[in-house]
Amino acid sequence: MADLVVRSRRVVTPEGERAAAVLVGEGRITAVLPYGAGAGTAEDVDLGDTALLPGLVDTHVHVNEPGRTEWEGFATATRAAAAGGVTTIIDMPLNSLPPTVTGEALRIKRAAAAGQCHVDVGFWGGAIPGNAADLPGLHAAGVFGFKAFLADSGVPEFPPVDADQLATAMNAVDALFVVHAEDPDHLRDAASSPAYADFLASRPEGAEHAAVATAIAVARAAGRRVHILHLSAATALPLIAQARAEGVRVTAETCPHYLTLDAAGIPDGATEFKCCPPIRDTANADRLWEALADGLITCVVSDHSPCTPDLKRRDTGDFAAAWGGIASVQLGLPVIWTAARDRGHTLADVVRWMARRPADLVGLRNKGRITPGADADLVAFEPDAEFVVDAHALHHKNPVTPYAGKRLRGVVRTTWLRGRAVTGDRAGGTFLSIDEES
Ligand SMILES: [Zn+2]
Repeated sequence: MADLVVRSRRVVTPEGERAAAVLVGEGRITAVLPYGAGAGTAEDVDLGDTALLPGLVDTHVHVNEPGRTEWEGFATATRAAAAGGVTTIIDMPLNSLPPTVTGEALRIKRAAAAGQCHVDVGFWGGAIPGNAADLPGLHAAGVFGFKAFLADSGVPEFPPVDADQLATAMNAVDALFVVHAEDPDHLRDAASSPAYADFLASRPEGAEHAAVATAIAVARAAGRRVHILHLSAATALPLIAQARAEGVRVTAETCPHYLTLDAAGIPDGATEFKCCPPIRDTANADRLWEALADGLITCVVSDHSPCTPDLKRRDTGDFAAAWGGIASVQLGLPVIWTAARDRGHTLADVVRWMARRPADLVGLRNKGRITPGADADLVAFEPDAEFVVDAHALHHKNPVTPYAGKRLRGVVRTTWLRGRAVTGDRAGGTFLSIDEES
């Protein structure tokens, strides 16, 4: 027996877009029927021409709580996620204190999250020099895999690994490794400057290329799955294609800012655009879109990484000193949909990149798809409605965004988590932490 039915002329299923009625019982999708079916269900929502998408899965979010909760916290990050149509986030292991590099640190983080999350939250563990012995226990406790940096992470408590240390970590546990791929030997210290070009020159494409090569080589030798985080440099794509053709289990993600923002258009002092690796030019972005279209880049995630306005150096506009990170968990869907539609892509493409594939990356087969048996994580999305981004109307903690003032297409009207509406006034405290599926 269903307790909710949501109808739409545009339900995006794994088989494509069609008119359908999605029946929900006990938090799961029980059936996907013709549009007019399921009459008599307790709650009957007819969206008409507003699309129904599966809730997005964002596997790259920095919540920063506990320890740097003034940057971002579970309540604000997950409220922003729900408002943006994201129903599952996987939290990165660093920028919170302690970083998630031991079982005890995971316990502390889960306790910090308890009772204040509006969407499902899972956790990555971290691989740092010297913690290889902690990795099996951390994995058994439910992290989805391990993040490692090949370059400075920006925080001293999460040091980078070299190739040997990455190999040690990979050999310690049979898990997915996700790698921040910039090679420190190719990075320069940026001079203090308000010019974006000076910062960009300090982090060349070659740094990503070299680090992707390292990550692939180590994964190949260890026989592990490796995922390249937030790929910006399209010059590294052939390496990934080649390795995959040779049987290495390597995947890659990119982010809305690398696909839609242009280095040449970044004003002096606009440190809200700073992230690492950096935003590059439009020719580079074109190649990232091609890789997304042909499946070489598997998914699009936010790398939501906020901080306080003072650390973003909003006062001086110094790119060298500013914290690197862009907070976009609430805006990723309309940012990508706006650009994707202009490039001839469909809502089904966007759902594949932002829901199903990220869910598959971390083994969540019951997330990111509208199909019987999946969790009833659903999003009513009006694809043709437009809005102008007001930073102060966003739910993440510090109202800094490079998208401020931009006109975007696509508005999230309602988000359901396991059949329960979690957007707007109906958002409650619905902490439901998820662990890796066995
Ligand atoms: Zn990140």
